[in-house]
Amino acid sequence: MKAGRRTGGQADGGGDGGDRRGARGAPFVYPKPDAPNPLHGVPVEFVGSFPDPRVRIDPPLPEIALIGRSNVGKSTLLNALVGRPGLARVSGSPGKTTLLNFYRLPALYLVDLPGYGFARASKSDRAGYRKLITGYLQTRERLAGIVWLLDIRHDPSKEDREMHELLIESHRPVLAVFTKTDKLSRSAAATRERELAERLGLHPEQVTSTSSRFGLGIPELASSVIAAVGGENS
Ligand code: GDP
Repeated sequence: MKAGRRTGGQADGGGDGGDRRGARGAPFVYPKPDAPNPLHGVPVEFVGSFPDPRVRIDPPLPEIALIGRSNVGKSTLLNALVGRPGLARVSGSPGKTTLLNFYRLPALYLVDLPGYGFARASKSDRAGYRKLITGYLQTRERLAGIVWLLDIRHDPSKEDREMHELLIESHRPVLAVFTKTDKLSRSAAATRERELAERLGLHPEQVTSTSSRFGLGIPELASSVIAAVGGENS
């Protein structure tokens, strides 16, 4: 858990010569230890679902996108982040959506990108998905950061590694969030976090761990989201 730890400034990739494999960009920050969730209970409005990554959304505001493999816990995390259990649908039948879901908070949009890694996806489904995501990553002028979800229990899949490449190529700020830490003991989760960060070539400041079920790491993630959009409160 990274509660209370603050990253060392907003370096453009960390200034370590660019040889680490993490997606580049200013890392998210964890401004305050043990603070309450600053996004809990803020007004949230579902704007809509859009197939076109270039869709114009008014008013223009910074965007934070959430992405991850199907069933990683993305809907649950989004709901936990804003303290609204029923906001994003928790999946019963994954694999249907190829739409970008926009949620308006007062000073930012949370963008729920479709999950990847469906066993039954066809080749053309995969190509369409890739086009949607690369289109989104490349064209959104107000995209302030990507929250990339990975299940702490599993090694990165082929699709996770492909997503990692897309994120690296996008040069967008990325925070990798390991989900479902309640499935492991505290010490096993800490070890896994380190292992996964190393395996993915991510700086320790670019990773954090959460349990949406128990609210662990959620306030820190909310603070990171606010910091990533320039510190304006929600
Ligand atoms: P999505 O497909 O990525 O949107 O994943 P969902 O949010 O629908 O979650 C998939 C499954 O994981 C559901 O059964 C959730 O209840 C479960 N889940 C999500 N977050 C957590 C968590 O933090 N802990 C545990 N134990 N289960 C979780």
